[in-house]
Amino acid sequence: MRFTRLRLNGFKSFVDPTDLLIHEGLTGVVGPNGCGKSNLLEALRWVMGENRPSAMRGGGMEDVIFAGAATRPARNFAEVSLTIDNSERLAPAGFNDLDQLDITRRITRDAGSAYKANTKDVRARDVQMLFADASTGSHSPALVRQGQISELINAKPKNRRRILEEAAGISGLYQRRHEAELKLAATEQNLLRVEDVVENLA
Ligand code: ATP
Repeated sequence: MRFTRLRLNGFKSFVDPTDLLIHEGLTGVVGPNGCGKSNLLEALRWVMGENRPSAMRGGGMEDVIFAGAATRPARNFAEVSLTIDNSERLAPAGFNDLDQLDITRRITRDAGSAYKANTKDVRARDVQMLFADASTGSHSPALVRQGQISELINAKPKNRRRILEEAAGISGLYQRRHEAELKLAATEQNLLRVEDVVENLA
């Protein structure tokens, strides 16, 4: 899967619809301080399902919505779309029916986030899993935040291990294990109820 375009609309400083075309060989984005370079990286992280406002340098998730400027009113929503070349059909089942995959996340004030894969509504979890299984995602070590290198140097071994697990593409397994454990606990409760009922009938 190759990312080919990042489209921003109302996201942070990108108030007007803006396309970043990700051609092969793109290795850097340069521009004056404060022009929005880090916002581009944050948009990429956000559309892949990032849910920590701190990772977006904000206090709440709605802080990603354009907050207004001297000449422009604030917007009511922000939307980011990531276009993925899926011509080699590497996307997982459920996302794999077209040559091009557009993942869109939209946040509306007081209404939270919604995700789409092409035109179909999908859950945040589905999008997070899609990218985690592709060894990328909002926590990917390929996306290096400002200050992250010094954090890494000072990190505890357990946190450093997470980075290796992300790179190995196994981090999605933690979420699946957690979900399996919840199902197991619910099933054990159901079995106890069944035993109670059987005892009462005996
Ligand atoms: P530097 O080179 O200094 O790191 P940069 O090019 O990475 O800068 P960013 O940090 O991406 O720049 O962008 C910062 C700009 O984004 C600031 O001008 C800030 O006011 C603007 N900005 C951030 N959030 C919002 C928002 N919600 N609404 C409007 N503008 C915003």
